[in-house]
Amino acid sequence: MRIQVDKDRCMGAGMCALTVPGVFTQDDDGLSEVLPGREDGAGEPLVHEAVRACPVQAITVEET
Ligand code: SF4
Repeated sequence: MRIQVDKDRCMGAGMCALTVPGVFTQDDDGLSEVLPGREDGAGEPLVHEAVRACPVQAITVEET
């Protein structure tokens, strides 16, 4: 899989980083970003839960 965060959409609610801290983090502005090297989801089963939890649908997961 390939995970991307649309920072233009992200409102910094932090649900993704709370749900999957091994994949998502927040930058200095509080916006979400994928940790370096974790764009493949790192085998985390909760990635799809983070997608659902995002209130502004800023996270996309492309199955590869
Ligand atoms: S849950 Fe959505 S809005 Fe909140 S930090 Fe993550 S990507 Fe941004």
